[in-house]
Amino acid sequence: MDNTIQAGCTTPSARHRVVIAGGGYAGTTLAVRLARAARPGDDIEIMLVEPNPCQQALSELDLVAVGPARTEFCELWHPTVFKDLPVTVCYDRVHEVRALDGVVSIGSREGPHREIAYWRLVIATGAIALVPPVPGLAERAVTMWSVADAQELQRRMEVQFRIAATSATAAERARALSFVVIGGGATGVEIVGTLGQMLPKRVRAFGLDPADLRIRLVEGRPDILYDLPDSLRVRARHRLARLGVEVVTGSMVREVDADAVSLADGRSVDASVLVFCGGAKADPDAISWGLEVDPSGRLVADPFCRVPGAAGVYAIGDVAAFRDPHDRRTLPMLAQFAIREAEHTADNILREARGGEVTPFVPHMHGEFVSIGPSWGVGWAWKFTLSGVPAIVMKRFTYVLYWFTVGGVRLAWRRTVEMLRMGR
Ligand SMILES: Cc1cc2nc3c(=O)[nH]c(=O)nc-3n(C[C@H](O)[C@H](O)[C@H](O)COP(=O)(O)OP(=O)(O)OC[C@H]3O[C@@H](n4cnc5c(N)ncnc54)[C@H](O)[C@@H]3O)c2cc1C
Repeated sequence: MDNTIQAGCTTPSARHRVVIAGGGYAGTTLAVRLARAARPGDDIEIMLVEPNPCQQALSELDLVAVGPARTEFCELWHPTVFKDLPVTVCYDRVHEVRALDGVVSIGSREGPHREIAYWRLVIATGAIALVPPVPGLAERAVTMWSVADAQELQRRMEVQFRIAATSATAAERARALSFVVIGGGATGVEIVGTLGQMLPKRVRAFGLDPADLRIRLVEGRPDILYDLPDSLRVRARHRLARLGVEVVTGSMVREVDADAVSLADGRSVDASVLVFCGGAKADPDAISWGLEVDPSGRLVADPFCRVPGAAGVYAIGDVAAFRDPHDRRTLPMLAQFAIREAEHTADNILREARGGEVTPFVPHMHGEFVSIGPSWGVGWAWKFTLSGVPAIVMKRFTYVLYWFTVGGVRLAWRRTVEMLRMGR
């Protein structure tokens, strides 16, 4: 289709203009679903505002940070996705929302800004890493929230490999090869697991002995992976131990200096490279747009994923605090919820365009899988717990399914081939 992807934005071409802020899991899913389902009579124009030309699939970032995958493995290019769909993509950022006027302004922080009127606005600008004010932590640690972060981790490790390769003593080599991940949730475990499986090969390529590697996972609570059942946590710890990862639990990080992480209980852990995977907060820009924010700092979303008090505005994905009607708990920041909220919101917007009533979103969690190294995982689906190869197959399958849903057979096939090569 001609002229569907444009660097700039057009003037309204339909009665129902839907502006989507953010093209991550939620925004991309919503744009694709709406574009495929809309009929000419719906008179819908879809405009996606996203500064990056590709979605970065954060859930597979560990593979970029440590290998073996290339960056493309977690990049979904919008020009490919929207090639044949009636979606206008503005490669820009939403700067401000004026909900009373039904207008967003877009452009860089410094300006200039352009104003765009909307009929419906969907805010899907995600979250960013949250680094607590522990002395030295922000200066020393790499966070894991973008391909650029993953590449920075690669770079820092390479520096240490070179230092180790030229070190005269075993003690110096061991110090250079001391890698620490802080945060025993799914993100930290995935990164440290991939380090554990992949780094021995990498250091051998530098002529180094894998026995000099020190890979540690530091978690303040008594155990790791609290979202998983006990039996899976045990299996995860066994797997980490087999990969040579030492798990240090039960004390918070007190301070970080040039070579080590000091814990509140007096222990100290050598760290030449430090990764922080300890938390996230909703996109701070979206929080500054004058919309209702919940105590955890996410935009309030009602049972229909709409922002109360802001007519025509929806909030979905990590940026939104949606309360599960079953237990009144706010949904965690997970891609699977971002995708389902997006699908539901696309359907509600279509209902509105056709003069119908919106329906409430009812979330269901069907499973969760955590990789521990590229070829092993733990997790559960429905009533079954899985570990090892079946679990990693499930995790990769859900990822490929996402590519299939938004990108079609060719993109899904490409990812599948890369995935099959990964375990080697
Ligand atoms: C390392 C890591 C591993 C993870 N692993 C898993 C996993 O295994 N399973 C799982 O379910 N979840 C996982 N998650 C969580 C998952 O990635 C998020 O829940 C998901 O990305 C949320 O989707 P989203 O669309 O809300 O936000 P994102 O995917 O982050 O997309 C937000 C988009 O908004 C854009 N944006 C930001 N500000 C603006 C602006 N002002 N204007 C326009 N656009 C803007 C950004 O550029 C970005 O493209 C992981 C997260 C991380 C960091």
